[in-house]
Amino acid sequence: MTSLEDRDMGIFKSGGVVIAVKDSGETSRLADVFTEQYGLIRVKAKGARRPESRFGAATDQLTYIQGVYYMREDENIAGLSAADVIMGFPNIHKDLIKFSYASGLAEVLSANLPAGQPQKVLFNAFLSALKDLEDIDKEIIEKFFWAHLLKFMSLLGYRPEFLICSGCSVGKSSDWMFSVENGRIYCKDCSKSLRDSLFIQLDGGEARILSIFISADRSVLSGLNVSDSQMKTARAVIDAFRKYHTLPENELKSLRFMDQVTKERTES
Ligand SMILES: [Zn+2]
Repeated sequence: MTSLEDRDMGIFKSGGVVIAVKDSGETSRLADVFTEQYGLIRVKAKGARRPESRFGAATDQLTYIQGVYYMREDENIAGLSAADVIMGFPNIHKDLIKFSYASGLAEVLSANLPAGQPQKVLFNAFLSALKDLEDIDKEIIEKFFWAHLLKFMSLLGYRPEFLICSGCSVGKSSDWMFSVENGRIYCKDCSKSLRDSLFIQLDGGEARILSIFISADRSVLSGLNVSDSQMKTARAVIDAFRKYHTLPENELKSLRFMDQVTKERTES
């Protein structure tokens, strides 16, 4: 596999998912596309906002496309010359909750992927995540979102450990301390010698759920029982771990927006 810098400048093709979009000029769009072959590329789609644009819905956020791109030597933004929609994820696009969670995953990728470096495993993980969010029932979407986010963290180089104590290697405990800083768990005794670290307390079941989250596929995740309080702890752990190690340092925009909307709905 070649990175974008290695290959000859010119025309190239790849499947990819549009992860971020913004307007450019009167009628164009700038998009971050997470491509299968070249990783993250920044793309300009000329005239994409015209009603009769040849791109149609292919430059909409969270759309899986087959794109033809061109690169000029003096530019670091590729041009999009043609694009076909492979998967449009209609359920994600018509449901605010699904869309917010899917955008949250895209937001993390957009902020942390290095440009022009192939990330095939992460690309496939992202595509699976979108297919899951598209298909699954909304009742279990929170579990899927946090599990996929933890998987992304692992693939971005921050793989946490939830199985054994990092101090003494003991594998069973009902009382763990998770270090947000180094992504490892410690038994009560070992955690005492690490007083300055940022710790979150976990019980045995919560640690087990988090370790399953890292590698679970759809059928395992669907069958995994996670109570409300376990979900709350898992969310706190993954959220703190993500903020500490990757960008953005604060709340994800899409989740903030969703919290606001659901709050307004319950209040009215
Ligand atoms: Zn220990």
